[in-house]
Amino acid sequence: MVKPPPTDDVDESALRVGPPAEAAAGVTGVRVALEHATGQMGVPRAAVALTKLNQVDGFDCQGCAWPDPAPGERHHAEFCENGAKAVAEEATQAHVGADFFAAHSVEELRGRSEYWLGKQGRIVEPVVLRPGASHYEPIEWGEAFALVAEHLNALDDPDRASFYTSGKASNETAFVYQLFARSFGTNNLPDCSNMCHESSGDALHETIGVGKGSVTLDDVHEAELIVVMGQNPGTNHPRMLSALEVAKRNGARIVSINPLREPGTMRFKNPQKPRGVIGKGTELADLHVPVRINGDLALFQAIGKALVEAHDRGEEVLDDDFIAGHTVGFERWADHVRSLDPDVVRRATGLDEATVGAVVEEFKRSRRTVICWAMGITQHKNAVATIKEIVNVALAQGNIGERGAGLCPVRGHSNVQGDRTMGIWERSPDWFLDRVDAEFSITSPREHGLDTIATIEALRDGHLDVFFAMGGNFVSAAPDTAVVEEAMGNAALTVHVATKLNRSHLAHGRTALILPPLGRSEKDMTGGQLQRITVEDSMSAVHASRGPLEPASEMLRSEVDIVCSLALATLGEDHVVPWDAMRRDYTEIRKRIGRVVPGCDGYEELVDRPGGFTLPHPPRDSRTFPTPQGKAVFSPSPLEVLEVPEGHLLLQTLRSHDQFNTTIYGLDDRYRGVTGGRRVVFVHPTDLREAGLADGDHVDLVSVWGGVERRVHDFRVVPYDQPRGCAAAYYPETNPLVPLDHMADGSRQPASKSVVIRLVPRGGQS
Ligand code: SF4
Repeated sequence: MVKPPPTDDVDESALRVGPPAEAAAGVTGVRVALEHATGQMGVPRAAVALTKLNQVDGFDCQGCAWPDPAPGERHHAEFCENGAKAVAEEATQAHVGADFFAAHSVEELRGRSEYWLGKQGRIVEPVVLRPGASHYEPIEWGEAFALVAEHLNALDDPDRASFYTSGKASNETAFVYQLFARSFGTNNLPDCSNMCHESSGDALHETIGVGKGSVTLDDVHEAELIVVMGQNPGTNHPRMLSALEVAKRNGARIVSINPLREPGTMRFKNPQKPRGVIGKGTELADLHVPVRINGDLALFQAIGKALVEAHDRGEEVLDDDFIAGHTVGFERWADHVRSLDPDVVRRATGLDEATVGAVVEEFKRSRRTVICWAMGITQHKNAVATIKEIVNVALAQGNIGERGAGLCPVRGHSNVQGDRTMGIWERSPDWFLDRVDAEFSITSPREHGLDTIATIEALRDGHLDVFFAMGGNFVSAAPDTAVVEEAMGNAALTVHVATKLNRSHLAHGRTALILPPLGRSEKDMTGGQLQRITVEDSMSAVHASRGPLEPASEMLRSEVDIVCSLALATLGEDHVVPWDAMRRDYTEIRKRIGRVVPGCDGYEELVDRPGGFTLPHPPRDSRTFPTPQGKAVFSPSPLEVLEVPEGHLLLQTLRSHDQFNTTIYGLDDRYRGVTGGRRVVFVHPTDLREAGLADGDHVDLVSVWGGVERRVHDFRVVPYDQPRGCAAAYYPETNPLVPLDHMADGSRQPASKSVVIRLVPRGGQS
């Protein structure tokens, strides 16, 4: 039976806290998945959607970018609990149309939570908020395109528009979208990658010459040692647990490096296996390393030092042949880590010598190591340096370009990596722009554009007039929420291509549009024929995706259609780019992708193969490194301890188990024992005691940056096992605490995982 959307909003007084779980998934995961699926889609629709999810002839899950097994190795149910929730959110039978917008003013909707907004259902027709109006109202597609075109063509400089992309957009959408922005005359192409893995891309580009991970799923299965750091796969990439289980059964050891002991890395109850249903499941982590927040750089320098010193003593722990044949800078790096002060390591990591020594022993024993990481590593001021240090250790042991070894940044958005491959990048290199120009006879601008933070600053400072978002929830995903909301108000026009309502639609420019696209789970009959799209996962595998469901409304248009129609309205029917042909048949887009994007030659045929194809990756494929030096690069980094003043804590923002980025599926973070609400802050019990607080007390969280106080109100404290001096709380509720200019050196990625805060009695003086 389909559940109606909630009329009441979240009631935090219903929040309950129990003990954290000891294992992930299991039959509870299956039950919850089915409840979400049938409750929102109804049984017949859920049955169709779930049997086609992640299948060769089906559609790609929106829930994360974890790769699919080879075609012959897939189960009939090839999805996880959170994959089912992601599909249910999109394919819900609840709808938001003209009646809804007539009944609810923007002001009223602003008072609602992100959870309530999302649960109202799919937006089923385009709507506009006209200057000074209180309510969104319907608008015809043609008028909407003309309105955007009018605003764009009135700009005296194309750089006064910015085109944001969320990582769910398909390769076809991304390709035509970047082409439109560049044909219009700007490289202002910020994307969600600026907020999730920009640090990985920058560090990997500089050190191995390719800004992507170097492993395949087989490498994970065949590793001797897998290190999972700054990552919570049980919630954020749940099918990764199946890969870890395979590796474990093949004899791998697993080290989890994370301030929190997340159940997903401890024990996995695989619902596809009897041992996961009636047994205790599979123990995953052999060693949990509760590193202090921001201590990963110091930890990896300590690992490097121990390996180098062991090598100096004659132990065979480094790969001398690989270092000599494929790298530069080893001696400089080795000297740097030899001089590391153990006391600095202790202060930075919060770990004793024995724990660091235990990690070192794991690295020494292994001849095939895969190192995985996610936003617990990328969202720090020293994130790029930390990832370079991870690379240093991998290079020193020759753990790249070998079966069962490599570097594995794990992406969250399902096609964020593909979007970047297709040219969604404010800093696309000249060679890529040259290929675009040659294919389409346009002249792309060469000056770099605005990234996410620069876009917000430009809006804040009145340098942008048009903000266009292809998906996502920009306002809630970005740091410093109050600043972003105010900045949006400075735009003449904000446009969101969005399947569901979210807070970004309520922090709008003087005119605002919401343009509803088809979802990935839906049939796309653009141009009168069934279209397919393509996506790339975290391991550079590209495959086709075709939705099986009837669309939520006849008024929806595909994202490709929206971009091409907008391009025609803005650039004119006689523009040199064949927008109409590409709109009518996505094969035309793929032909051009094949000619423009390296490794995609014959793209249409490549994605015809069952399971698709894997893009070339020279370090992985042949141990060749396309850096300026022609070799992999060791890069020493200075080490600073992030000092936290007395009485303060270091906060990391994180997801609950019941959410995907800013989409709140429900109020049940059962892995951490929190249900019924979201305003909690997890703190070490001793820190709580010393602050004069007890379990269940309510506090405000306060950060001070550049003399400005930021505060979020009324959080229940929860004692939780983690290093002293650390704290954790959910985003987007805590995003207002993250200053806009608190970001990673080099990559400019928001440093949301290390924010200095104080706990202040609820409503009290700071
Ligand atoms: S692991 Fe990720 S891609 Fe796979 S089903 Fe789960 S959420 Fe979807």
